[in-house]
Amino acid sequence: MKVLVINTGSSSIKYEFFAMEAEQRLAGGIVEKIGEGTSAVTHEKILESGEVLKLEEQGLIPDHEHGLKRVVELLRHPEYGVVENKSEIQAVGHRIVHGGDKLTETMVIDDKVIEELKETVPLAPLHNPGCILGIETARAVFSNAVHVAVFDTAFHRTIPPYAFMYALPWDMYKKHKVRKYGFHGTSHAYVAEQAARYLGKKPEEVNLITIHLGNGGSMAAVQGGKCVDTTMGMTPLAGLVMGTRCGDIDPAVMFYLGKRLGMNLRELDILLNKESGLKGLCGTNDMRELLKKKRTGDFHASLALEMYAYRIKKYIGAYMAVMGGLDAIVFTAGVGENCAEVRSLSCQGMEGLGISMDDEKNRAPGRGARRISTDESPVKIIVVPTNEELRIAQETRRVVGAASFRRYPSSSKCAEFSADTETA
Ligand code: ADP
Repeated sequence: MKVLVINTGSSSIKYEFFAMEAEQRLAGGIVEKIGEGTSAVTHEKILESGEVLKLEEQGLIPDHEHGLKRVVELLRHPEYGVVENKSEIQAVGHRIVHGGDKLTETMVIDDKVIEELKETVPLAPLHNPGCILGIETARAVFSNAVHVAVFDTAFHRTIPPYAFMYALPWDMYKKHKVRKYGFHGTSHAYVAEQAARYLGKKPEEVNLITIHLGNGGSMAAVQGGKCVDTTMGMTPLAGLVMGTRCGDIDPAVMFYLGKRLGMNLRELDILLNKESGLKGLCGTNDMRELLKKKRTGDFHASLALEMYAYRIKKYIGAYMAVMGGLDAIVFTAGVGENCAEVRSLSCQGMEGLGISMDDEKNRAPGRGARRISTDESPVKIIVVPTNEELRIAQETRRVVGAASFRRYPSSSKCAEFSADTETA
């Protein structure tokens, strides 16, 4: 089976194309600045030798439909293409940021799923409209393919109510769906599975803390293969210090700023989501830039790094308590896979908790899954490269391959929880 994975934003389409027998990436790319003056397309074809044949082009792509049609042309291109016919694309996996409280499992997309997805827009106004547009366009362009929705929130559906609820009046949850949902689920799920395999165990045999540190960042407590808590909340703003997001903060700061500076809700939203985090603290959201600044003795960069690592460390402690024991800490994504300094600071001084980093291993360059804890460390520390697109393709294959498609409405912990409590 060949699966096309699509990740649609308001002005971009990222795509990856896999042959699933060997889970092999055949092609991929991105269409950017859709609807803007000059759009850009970058396409890669992976040759049998493993080399990458790259095409970059600029031009006007007025809307997502034209963008996807260009993707089809490139996938069928005599030189850069990998299929002869569009019909070879049997399934399309869509990355959906927010599934709300009903769309909690990977599922085949039909009109009802799209209807339900539209209900989630208030929960993810920046992300889900782009996802819906992507699905609707792709269903028209790939009308013979099976379309599958894979949700960033789905892996977190096993978080128990006492962990996902906020201590707000009950109606805020019941009527307005205010609760923790969690994000980066495909990445946490993928690296948790890979980490268990690396440890030579089954997922249900290990307790893991997975730490995804990209531009956004989140951690998950994964107990016996199931997520039991995560740092992001109703939106991706909660939890860790991130590139441009503040993470955990006293909510009353917003009332204070509103009153004192007269900031309105939109301005506060931009402040906390786009102008805070590392960028707000030291002027850059790029960890590599931050490290350069720090090396020149920049106080703000040093403090930002300390705050970034301290927040991770605090959650490691918290999640060890939540799970009552820990087998491994798993670092992933741009910072987690590449930044020895962050890994080292985040795990520093935790030998008393059985966490002992091997500094040499941590600093040694490496690409694949690798252990960076000492041989004696009871808790292993490992680096596992994430691959969210491959996970979406795997999920798509699983659901398409299942004898009967799992269709909406799905059974979910949350739905059961709300049903139970309805009558309580
Ligand atoms: P996104 O969330 O956009 O997918 P990535 O997972 O690509 O983000 O991570 C981007 C972050 O990873 C940036 O802050 C970047 O500076 C950081 N990063 C990438 N390579 C390195 C490196 N070698 N050392 C430190 N940080 C790195």
